Amino acid sequence: MRVVMKFGGEALRDENRVLYTANLIKKYKKEETVIVVSAMSGITDKLYELAKNVINMDEAKIREEIELIKRRHEIVIEKCVNDKYKKECKDILKKLVEKLERTLLGISYVGELTPRSLDLVLSFGERLIAPIFSYVLKSLNIDTIHLTGYEAGIITDSNFGRANPIWEITKKLVRENVGKYLGKKIPIITGYIACDEKGRITTLGRGGSDYTATIIGSCLDADEIWLFKDVKGLMTADPKIIPDAKIIRKISYIEAMELAYFGAKILHPKALEPAMERNIPVRIKPLFDPEDEGTLITSECERSKDIVKAIAVKKNVAALNIFGAGMVGLPGIAARIFNALARNNINILMISQGSSETNISLVVEREDVEKAIDAIKSEFKGENVIKNIDCNKNVAILAVVGAGMKGTRGVAARVFSAVAKAGVNVLMISQGSSEVNISFVVEEKDSDIALKALHKEFIC
Ligand code: ASP
Ligand code: MG
Repeated sequence: MRVVMKFGGEALRDENRVLYTANLIKKYKKEETVIVVSAMSGITDKLYELAKNVINMDEAKIREEIELIKRRHEIVIEKCVNDKYKKECKDILKKLVEKLERTLLGISYVGELTPRSLDLVLSFGERLIAPIFSYVLKSLNIDTIHLTGYEAGIITDSNFGRANPIWEITKKLVRENVGKYLGKKIPIITGYIACDEKGRITTLGRGGSDYTATIIGSCLDADEIWLFKDVKGLMTADPKIIPDAKIIRKISYIEAMELAYFGAKILHPKALEPAMERNIPVRIKPLFDPEDEGTLITSECERSKDIVKAIAVKKNVAALNIFGAGMVGLPGIAARIFNALARNNINILMISQGSSETNISLVVEREDVEKAIDAIKSEFKGENVIKNIDCNKNVAILAVVGAGMKGTRGVAARVFSAVAKAGVNVLMISQGSSEVNISFVVEEKDSDIALKALHKEFIC
C-alpha cells in the first residue's frame, strides 16, 4: 500500500511529541510511505512575527530570538537523535540557522519586507524540523531521506504567500524525485514550501502542509492520504461552541471543501482538490488515537438522514453592499468589481445580487475590507455608476453543508425558520450554485446563537 502521511505542528511540538510521532510512524508505516511534516507548533507564527518586526529590532534582539528557535530544535536533537547522528544533525541545524540569521539581518538592513522575502523567512520552520525528524526516524532504524518541497519537485507560480503548483512540471518531478525512493527509503518532505520556476522559495498559504501532502499523494497516485491532526476528525460543528458536536465518519470531497472554505480550520481549503482530481481517499486521522478511523473523505456523496452534515462558521469577515441605480441593466459591472478585487489580491467569500440589480453584496475577509472599498472606488472613479458602498465589519458567514441539499424541498425553509426562531436576523443569503451548501450572513455577535439553533434542528 502506498500512503502519504502528514504530521502538523502539534505532532512535533516538543521532544516528547516528536518521539510519539516517530513511534507512530514506525508502527503504522506501509510498504510505501511518504511523510510530510510542517513546522514545530508556533514556529511559523514566530517567524512571521520576526519578519514583520525585524526592521525595528536591534541586532542583539534578532539574534536572541533566533537563538530561542534554535534551542527548541536543539533539544529535539539532544533527546531524540541517536549519538551517532547527533553531530551531522547539529551541523545541518547550524547551517540553516545561519541562513535564517542572514535573511533576517538582510531584511532589517534593507528596511523592507517583500512578499518574497517573507516566504523565505517562513520557509525555515519546515526546513529546520524535517531533517531533524528524519534523523529521529533513522535513530529508530527507519531508513529515511529528507527533502524540501522543492527538492521533492513541487514547482509553483510566483504568487508568494499563496502559490499554486504548476501541475505538469510538478507531476513529472515529484514522480522522479520522490518516486525513486518508494519502497526503499521513507522520504520526509517539508510541507508548506515549494519554489517557483526561477528557484525562489514560495509558500502555499498558511496551513499549507495538508496541501503539500495531497499534491504529493496525487502526483504519486497514492492509495490513501492520511492527515494526522490533534482532533477526532471533521466535526458536525466547532466543538468549542457546540460541546456535543459529533464526528463525521464519511464525507465527500465537495462537502469537506465547503467546510474548509467556510471556516472549519481543520483543513487547508485547497488541500482536497488534488486528491479529488485523482480520486484518492483522504483520512483525517486523530493523532492521539491512531487506531480510530477518524473521518474518511472520498468522492461518495452519501446523503445523511437529515441532509445537513455539518455547519461551519466563518468569523472575521465583512460585508459590503454596493448601491447605484446606474448599475441597472448595465452589463459588466459585477465583472469589473470582481476584477478590481482580484487585481488587489482580495478574496471574495460570498456574493449576492438583488433581482432589482440596484445593489451587489459581497463578503470579504475583514482585514481586506478597506483595500476592497478603495479598489472598487478607484475602478469606477468619475463614472456615475456606484452611488454608495455600505460596509458592515462585524459579520460572520454560516455555511450549512450536506449532500443533496439544494435538491431537497424544505431544507432552506427549516434553516431559516430555525435561525428566525432563535431571534437572529439574516443579512444576506448566498445564491451560490453549490449543490451541497446554503450559506448566509449574520451579525458576528449572533453567529453562535444561530449555530446552536441549527445544530439542534438538524444534528442533535
Ligand atoms: N507551518 C505552516 C503554518 O503554520 C504550514 C502548516 O502548518 O501546515 O502555516
Ligand atoms: Mg500548522
